[in-house]
Formats: sequence, structure tokens, C-alpha cells
Amino acid sequence: MEFEFTAEQIQLRKSVREFAEAEIGPHVLEWDEAQIFPLDVIKKAGELGFMGAIFPEELGGAGLGYIEYAIIIEELARVDPSVGLIVAAHNSLCSNHIYLAGSDEQKKKYLPKLATGEWIGCWSLTEPEAGSDAAGTRTNAVKHGDCWVVNGGKTFTTNAQYADVCVAMAVTDRAASHHGISAFILEKDTPGFRVGKKENKLGMRASATGEVLFTDCRVPDSQLLGKKGEGFVDSLRILDGGRISIAALSVGLAQGAFDAALKYSKHRKQFGRPISEFQAIQHKLADMATSIEAGRLLTYRAGWMKDHGNRVTKESSMAKLFSSEMAVRVADEAVQIHGGYGFIKDYPVEKFYRDVKLCTIGEGTSEIQRLVIARQLLRN
Ligand SMILES: Cc1cc2nc3c(=O)[nH]c(=O)nc-3n(C[C@H](O)[C@H](O)[C@H](O)COP(=O)(O)OP(=O)(O)OC[C@H]3O[C@@H](n4cnc5c(N)ncnc54)[C@H](O)[C@@H]3O)c2cc1C
Repeated sequence: MEFEFTAEQIQLRKSVREFAEAEIGPHVLEWDEAQIFPLDVIKKAGELGFMGAIFPEELGGAGLGYIEYAIIIEELARVDPSVGLIVAAHNSLCSNHIYLAGSDEQKKKYLPKLATGEWIGCWSLTEPEAGSDAAGTRTNAVKHGDCWVVNGGKTFTTNAQYADVCVAMAVTDRAASHHGISAFILEKDTPGFRVGKKENKLGMRASATGEVLFTDCRVPDSQLLGKKGEGFVDSLRILDGGRISIAALSVGLAQGAFDAALKYSKHRKQFGRPISEFQAIQHKLADMATSIEAGRLLTYRAGWMKDHGNRVTKESSMAKLFSSEMAVRVADEAVQIHGGYGFIKDYPVEKFYRDVKLCTIGEGTSEIQRLVIARQLLRN
């Protein structure tokens, strides 16, 4: 077994941390308060290769693996989880669906623009009536000549308002159930395609989350992504990789909350000494650091397995389940260590505490992760 990062991976972590602290850090509060989508920073992230981390260089990507991708998401989330979420949804959902299921023409047309951050991507599976039960999709696409006419609507799409391209799932054969849902690539200017309400959220407020609506939206057959009827099954494969990024986001968020709590505990004095000298605070710090490390190991192991060509359905769900629930506990304790100051916006833990809840919900709730893991255990 090998537990060390390579020299290149250590350098990558240092570069992403420097970028996040310099370019994102000073604006975190303002973006959160006003729900500002940090478009300029996303473009800069594109120039550095973060928007195409896992795609080959010939398609405009950085040619990295899931270990490096997890490092990028972890370090962005340590400073601002919203930026981690924007980059994760763009890379592992939208772009990766095109990369894994797309034709050569589709890959050549879309990936160079997406991987460099020239275009932003979103991925729409969830609907108002189809969340955990995503196979209950109602949006439908009907073939008319060599076009598909898409009608319906999606909810909770990350990046919706800023996306140039959207990968959306629609029913093409209702009788075929799980094998009757297809994926389509839709460009924002397609007539009948429109972005609806932007949600006003508890956390992750610098990321845009919103509706995507289709009204007699006509797309040529060339925009069908992957095999007809296999969009839902492909989505499950896409989520296997996506969950590694949400696990990394959780680890990074927890690390950010921990770093703030550790620093605060050394400076805050009560009863004549720093609170870090109280055993109760030391135990909290020890438990937080230990559980972050456990989440990190699960996350990078899943990334390592993916990079080695393994199926990671169980491992990515385990990493996501454990790391997201760990991050909720760590963010809670980080606020507790700050006492009343943790409850006000002058300290970063207040925001981590709000942001973290998305981690146990997005890309499948904790309940669904347990269901996925149990199915894999029982199958074997
Ligand atoms: C900020 C944000 C960003 C998002 N980004 C995207 C995106 O980019 N693209 C996208 O497609 N979706 C996105 N989502 C949607 C997200 O994936 C869904 O919210 C999530 O899958 C849960 O679906 P739901 O909200 O409909 O909850 P529901 O499915 O209605 O679940 C409600 C509760 O019931 C539980 N439950 C449901 N079924 C079961 C079961 N079988 N067993 C046990 N418990 C169950 C759930 O765990 C949950 O606790 C995003 C959501 C948020 C909040």
C-alpha cells in the first residue's frame, strides 16, 4: 500500500490553496451574503485547468486523475464550498457525461470549451416529483422527423443560470422504465429552453441553483447523448464519479472549519487561559482531526480505485456518506468551539455550518447512499 501523495500532487495542492486563499478568500462573505456567482474566478479556474481536471489534454483538459481532481475540490472547498460545488457539478456531472457517453463529434464540439472554462456546464436529472427516485422523470422527448421535441422541467440544477450547455434527462420510452430515459445536450440559446427561478438557499449561496425548463424545445438527433434509453443508467455511472467530488468537497469544508476552530481555540481566553488548554476542547479537536483524516482516506481510496479502472459504486457512496456526515459534525463542533462568536458572520464557521448541509443531500441523500451501499453488499 502507498499512502503518500506524489511531489506533483503536493505541488498541485499548494497551487490550488494559494489560488483559493488569494482569489476567493477575500470575497467569501460578500458572495455568500449577496448570492454572487463568482464568474471571474471560475474563468481563472478554467485557465488553471480546474474546469477540465479529469479530461485528456487533446480535449482541452488538464489530463489529471481523480486523486488530483479530489485535491482541487478539497482545497477550493476549504476556502469556499460554493466554488467547490460549481467546479464539481461542471466537471463530474455535465462534462463527464459528455466525455463518457458522447460521440467523437460531441466530445470535440463541447469538451474543449467546457474543459477550459470558456463555457459553463450544468446537469439536470432532478425534477420536482423525481428526486431520490430519479427514474420517475416526467420531462419527455418525442421524436419528430430528425428532431426531438423536449417538454418538461428540472429543479435544483447547479450552475443553471450561468450554464452555456445543459445535459438533461428526458423520457423517450415510458414503457421501458429505467431503460426509457435518454440524455440530451442542450445549448442555452435553443428555442424553448429557458432557465427559471434561482433558489434562495440556506448555504452554498455563491453557487447558483435553479430550474431548467423546456417548452417544445426542438433539438436535432445529433444532440442525443449516449444510446437512446440509456441516459438514466449512464447517470448512475456519472454519479459514481461525482460522489467522489462531493466527498472531497466535504473533507475540504471540514478542514476549513477545523482550521478556523483550532486557530480560535489558541487565541480565545477564558478563565485566564486559552480554551485550547481545556480537555473538553482538546477532545473535540482530536475527534474532528481524526474523523477528517478518515474521510480523506475513504475519498482518496475511491479516487485511486477509479483511476485504476475499478467500478466504484460502493466505494464512492461510502466516501460520500461518511465524509458528508463527518463534515456536518465537524462544522457543528467548530461553531461550538467558537461559542457565541460562531453564531455570527464575522467568523467563517457560521458559513461552513450552513454550507455543509448540502453535502448530505446533493448527488443522493445519506439515506440513498446507504441504500446503494447495502445493495452492493447484498449483491456480493
Ligand atoms: C444546492 C443543491 C444543488 C443540487 N444540484 C443538482 C444538480 O446539479 N443536478 C441535479 O440533477 N440535482 C441537483 N440537486 C438535487 C439533489 O440531488 C436532490 O435534492 C436529492 O437527490 C434529493 O432529492 P429531493 O430533494 O427530491 O428529496 P426526496 O427524494 O424527496 O427525499 C426526501 C427525504 O426522503 C428520503 N428518501 C427518499 N427516498 C427514500 C428511500 N427509498 N429510502 C429512504 N429514504 C428515502 C430522502 O433521503 C430525504 O431524506 C441539488 C440539490 C441541492 C439542494
